Amino acid sequence: MNTTLRITAFATSCLMAALLGVNFEAATPAAAQGAEPVSKTCRVGPRSREVPIQKTEPFKMFDNLYHVGPCYVAVYLLTTPAGHVLFDTTQEPFVDDTIANIQKVGVNLKDIKYVVLAHGHLDHVGGSKRLQEATGARLMAVEEDWKMIEALQGKVGNRDPRPNDMPKRDMVMKDGDTLKIGDQDIRFISTPGHTPGVLSAYNITLRDGSNTYKAFWGGGGGGAPGLAGAEIGAANTKRIMDIPGIQVNLLTHSWVEPNGYPGGGIHERAVLLKTRKAGDPNPFVDAATWNARAKLGYDNAAKRLAEEKAKGGAK
Ligand SMILES: [Zn+2]
Repeated sequence: MNTTLRITAFATSCLMAALLGVNFEAATPAAAQGAEPVSKTCRVGPRSREVPIQKTEPFKMFDNLYHVGPCYVAVYLLTTPAGHVLFDTTQEPFVDDTIANIQKVGVNLKDIKYVVLAHGHLDHVGGSKRLQEATGARLMAVEEDWKMIEALQGKVGNRDPRPNDMPKRDMVMKDGDTLKIGDQDIRFISTPGHTPGVLSAYNITLRDGSNTYKAFWGGGGGGAPGLAGAEIGAANTKRIMDIPGIQVNLLTHSWVEPNGYPGGGIHERAVLLKTRKAGDPNPFVDAATWNARAKLGYDNAAKRLAEEKAKGGAK
């Protein structure tokens, strides 16, 4: 592990709050105890449902990629000369902040051409209708996730008392689809399990000065219960592990286990990025962790499959 990642949780949390403008008064007790990184506080545990601690200033991760979401769930804005791509949309009551964050980084909402939806859970798709209306972009999701998105219509959100207002079905994505826009040639993969759909993207080209890197966004390939689910999980994780050359793992949440970033989550790496010295590598570039975690994901899925087979589990 890069030794610069070994910042104490206390220092990370305080620096993070100062630099990113997270409303952190509320979270100070946890930070003062050195208990856990901000990325974890806002994602899991008893404080993660509090609205104020989610407010996060946008930041530039790469020359062509911004983090514009709230603290706990990522929304990424990939910019190209031919229009931009948004990955995920958060949910209410955080959509206003996300729209404001996009404007703060100087991007015209109408230049966003595509919005990619990871899967049909509300924390990823809850803002999709409002973001589509604000941008005019096409929405991309897998068929099975469109069904989930449609089923969320009118239900009361899990973080907001207002009923969900969901978009109409738009682009139906399939495994193997690609998106060519500007200088990007993005590939899509569907790995059912976390939901019956699940869309991830790879071959995303990220620029950092004169360097370019390849990124993966998404995840959730762990399969589903039972022998059939274990077989799918093993196949998914093998496919993800076999994608060559991934150097950046764009997490869909600030804090994810077991696919997270060592030494913290997105917001701890954001602090490292802001404080890096000229010539230092971008802390979001971490092929070693990606490779280790992808292998672990496959090993775990293969072990589970072996267990299910030993049980003679019913499909
Ligand atoms: Zn989910």
